[in-house]
Amino acid sequence: MSPASPHPPSVERVLVAARRLSADGTDPEALASVAREVVADERDRMDGGARPSTIEALAKEVVERIKAFADPAGPGSGLTSVLNATGVILHTNLGRAPWSQVAIAAADRAATTYSLLEFDREGGRRGPRFRAAESHLIALTGAQDALVTVNNAAAVALTVGLAGKRGVAVSRGELVEIGGGVRIPEIIRRTGARLVEVGTTNRTRAADFEAPLADGQATVVLRVHPSNFAQTGFVEAPDPVEVAAIAHRHGAIVIDDLGSGALLDTARFGLAHEPTPAEGLAAGADLVTFSGDKLVGGPQAGLIVGRSDLIARLRKDPFARAVRPEKVILAALAATLGLYRAGRAVAEIPVWRMIAATPERLRQRAEAIVASLASSLAVDEADRVTIASTVATVGGGSLPGESLPSVGLRIGGRAPTALAARLRAGQPTVIARVEQGAVILDLRTVDPADDVGLAGALIRALHPS
Ligand SMILES: *Cc1c(COP(=O)(O)O)cnc(C)c1O
Repeated sequence: MSPASPHPPSVERVLVAARRLSADGTDPEALASVAREVVADERDRMDGGARPSTIEALAKEVVERIKAFADPAGPGSGLTSVLNATGVILHTNLGRAPWSQVAIAAADRAATTYSLLEFDREGGRRGPRFRAAESHLIALTGAQDALVTVNNAAAVALTVGLAGKRGVAVSRGELVEIGGGVRIPEIIRRTGARLVEVGTTNRTRAADFEAPLADGQATVVLRVHPSNFAQTGFVEAPDPVEVAAIAHRHGAIVIDDLGSGALLDTARFGLAHEPTPAEGLAAGADLVTFSGDKLVGGPQAGLIVGRSDLIARLRKDPFARAVRPEKVILAALAATLGLYRAGRAVAEIPVWRMIAATPERLRQRAEAIVASLASSLAVDEADRVTIASTVATVGGGSLPGESLPSVGLRIGGRAPTALAARLRAGQPTVIARVEQGAVILDLRTVDPADDVGLAGALIRALHPS
């Protein structure tokens, strides 16, 4: 073998070694397939000039990869647990709302046992699909009926489809991009309906809807909550009650996309008032859509409430079948909504607990964490950590421009971005903010049960051994 062209050991030799290390019951074909991958990666590494690994090391890598595949929450699997210390409660990139314990338990049960998902217990045959979530929505919003989809973008697409090939009238001030590049005008066009733009970017009046509705250009009016931006200056938004009156006079349907929506009054917590689905219906909307995993605080879902004749039409639409949520989601959503009906939402839904936490309570937690650091860190390291007043936000396309006074840990000293990177690389992963030359760990978005884990992660990041 020429030293100029080294090549990795054969798959067969790695396999022999891996077989000795692997757990009983591992399918030999799976082992061989991973061994081929590991040897191919070794070849790439060697082509890049790396020193060859031993057969034992390669066999160990095979077994570790197999282990990670079988343990989706284990290290190296990509789904590591994350502590959100950003102070953004509904962080879309971190998975939005964490679930309540009852939602987790309901999902667990739905996943692990058979259920009466679409089964009529009395008749012993096929029945209507599990309706608990929809029944709760009806009770919570006062709507005639409700329908759940996979997410709110799907709910908007499904409801806007009621226009058929006719027009959907939208104020130019509400032709928004939701995030992730999803744009309301594109959703409308994708359904096959025509977008009818009304008014101007900064000012639209109810009367602007008169002409396109009167001449039948548009048969649906879509209102979109400007969830992630606020307009100031010379602006005027149309009064929804007046728009609905005009629409109904011409036989058009009014859809109100609330985005987040809220089932509790956010003003109770010192925030601006986020519109509720019941208010949307009271203002004349025939259908209101909102997300399950924003301020509702449950799993990703699209929630549609409103007129029963329209919901019956939506149920019959083949597209409804394509955007139907699965049983685990339905169970978790029903459990989440049940907490609102039980009067336990603020006590048990993480999003509301985070919103409701008082700065005094957050400060007590910060003090306990700082005290716990003293025994594990050198004095100069511990001195870098102080308690700071911070500003948290709700996020997730709700309450733009609104903030909550919060409390966090401020870690001063050199190289804050390097410290933030070490926190991200740790176990658990901690996502922090870097602000004015310091790392900020906002406690409002950290579950109190994770405070000990956060302190440990901080110790390891400050004191890499
Ligand atoms: C977030 C949002 C959506 C999309 O909801 P998903 O549940 O993420 O699909 C649609 N419309 C508005 C106004 C939103 O804020």
